[in-house]
Amino acid sequence: MQRRTNTNKIPDNKVPGARSKSHAPEIKPKPRVLKVGDEICTKQLRIQALGDIRSCQDKCLKSILQNAEKQQMPKKLISKGDWLCSHKEKDQTFDIYQKPGVKNLVTPARNKIYIFVIDKSILDEFAAKLQRYCEAFYTDMKIQIKKPESSTFLQDKEVPSREGQVGQNQYNANVILKKTLPLVPKDAYCMLTVTMEDLYPFDSWNYVFGWANYVSRTGVFSFGRYHPNFDRDYYGEEEDEEEEEESPEEKKKAENELLENACYVMVHEIGHMFGMTHCTFYEYLCPVCLRKLQSNMQFDVKRRFKEMHKICQEFQFTEMAEYYEKQSQI
Ligand SMILES: [Zn+2]
Ligand SMILES: [Zn+2]
Repeated sequence: MQRRTNTNKIPDNKVPGARSKSHAPEIKPKPRVLKVGDEICTKQLRIQALGDIRSCQDKCLKSILQNAEKQQMPKKLISKGDWLCSHKEKDQTFDIYQKPGVKNLVTPARNKIYIFVIDKSILDEFAAKLQRYCEAFYTDMKIQIKKPESSTFLQDKEVPSREGQVGQNQYNANVILKKTLPLVPKDAYCMLTVTMEDLYPFDSWNYVFGWANYVSRTGVFSFGRYHPNFDRDYYGEEEDEEEEEESPEEKKKAENELLENACYVMVHEIGHMFGMTHCTFYEYLCPVCLRKLQSNMQFDVKRRFKEMHKICQEFQFTEMAEYYEKQSQI
C-alpha cells in the first residue's frame, strides 16, 4: 500500500502551521480515535493552549484571545483523509512554543524569507504576487525572490525523479532540500523553494505538496497539483480539438484559484520554519497560532489584519478578505 499525505485541496484547511521537522511520518503513528465532525481538542485544552492572556501586550490580540471560545470555530475533523486523522499530531500550546529550542528566532541578522523560484513556468508576475502575500502574512519580515543561475536547476543538481501515477515527472523533495541547503543566504530566516514539478518525499509515498525542515530552515513546495490542467495534461489524452475554448472569465477564475492555493500553502510551509506544528485548536489562523507568530515577530496585530484584508481584496480572495476585514475591526 502506498501512503498518501493530506490530499485536501487546501491542506490543513488553510491553516498555516507546521510540524517540527517535516511532513515525515511519526515513527509509529497512532491513529486518533476521532470521527468526522469531532472537535480535535477539548474546550479545556483549547483554553489552556491560549496561554496566560494577562501577559499579552497587544490590545487587539488580547481581545481575540479573550473571546476565542465565543468567536472562533473549534477545529474539527473534516474528513477521513484529514492529515490529523492518520497522524498523531502533538497539541502545541502557546506555552510549549515558548520553550527553548522549539522555534527559530527571528533576529535582525536573520529576518529575510527567500522564495527560491526554480521554474521558468512560474512567471515573474506570479512570483511577485506570492512575495506580496507573504509580506502581508509575515508582517515585518523581509521577503525576497531568489532565482537559480540556470533554469534547469533540478537536472543540473541531478535530483532523482520518477514517473508519477498520471505519467508526470516527480522529483525527490528530500534531495531538493539537500541541494538547496548550500544556497541558503546568511541573512535568511528561511528559504522556500517553489516549483511546478510534482514532488515525492520517499519512494513509498505517492506525492507530497510540500516538504520542509525547520532545523535547516529549508522547504520546497510544488504548485503543480493546483494547476487546472494537472490531470488533463498528464493523463496523456489526446487533446480534443472540438473542446470548447475556456472563456476569459473561466481562465481568470482558474488562475485566481491557483494563486490563492499557492499563497495559502506557501505561508503554511513557511509556518513550519517558525517551528509551528499543525494546528489542532481553532479554524483559520487561530488565536493560538496567531499568538505564537506574534510572539516571535512582535508585529502589531491590528495592522497585520488590515494588510491582509487589503491584499486579499486586491487578489480577490473573497472569503479571506471578509474574514480579515472582520478581524481588523476588533
Ligand atoms: Zn504542514
Ligand atoms: Zn492554531
